[in-house]
Amino acid sequence: MNIARNISNFVFGMECLGCGCASERLDPWLCPACREELGREAKEPSFPGPDVACLFPMRPLTRRLIHALKYRNLLGMARYLVGRSSAVGRGEVADSMKELARPFYFVPVPLHPSRFRERGYNQAERIAAALASRFGGRVCRWLARSNFRVSQTKLSREEREWNVAGAFIPRLPSRLPQTGTVFVVDDVYTTGATTMSCIAAFGKDFPLVLKVCTLLYDEPASAVMDYAADCEMEWDARWIGFGKEKSPG
Ligand SMILES: [Zn+2]
Repeated sequence: MNIARNISNFVFGMECLGCGCASERLDPWLCPACREELGREAKEPSFPGPDVACLFPMRPLTRRLIHALKYRNLLGMARYLVGRSSAVGRGEVADSMKELARPFYFVPVPLHPSRFRERGYNQAERIAAALASRFGGRVCRWLARSNFRVSQTKLSREEREWNVAGAFIPRLPSRLPQTGTVFVVDDVYTTGATTMSCIAAFGKDFPLVLKVCTLLYDEPASAVMDYAADCEMEWDARWIGFGKEKSPG
């Protein structure tokens, strides 16, 4: 931890990523007060659907931390948040995972290729790796973005949900395992349009149990503001995905 702390101090100074206060007791990113706050937020996981678990609520603190993971290159943040979630120990998420068939396969939602080039990494993949190392299992890149490109920002909300419906295609191994649980992993779950589109991409005859796990759950109403802030984002989409198998949930 000392090395991580020293690097973090060197790059970001001795400021808490949560409140910005100067502290010599960072862990290495949060001061004791913010760490406590994160502990309280970890007690509020969400299950917005029967097959969906979100480890933390979207709050100012968790928003800042996920922002650090996405835009400030703090890749260790994925492991940090997973390690402090109720997925660990005897929390609700940990209990629900105990019931599931093993082995576990963690499938990150693929990033748009241009986003990937710009950022150099896919945050969902870091989260998938953190979950796999915590729960046992492996990261599988079993999804890809389809090529058809439509600017998501020019669409109404309803059209946007349709728009992601064909956005992903499966990239499955030729010898697919026949038992176990697949977790589609993303950073934030809002309406579920993205992750459900991933699940639909696996098709009806997919033999493994399909679940969704994200770090944060954001109320759709507050996500509209985030969406506006993120409005330069473009998505791959394929309109011919219409009418295909839709989400199971
Ligand atoms: Zn703080």
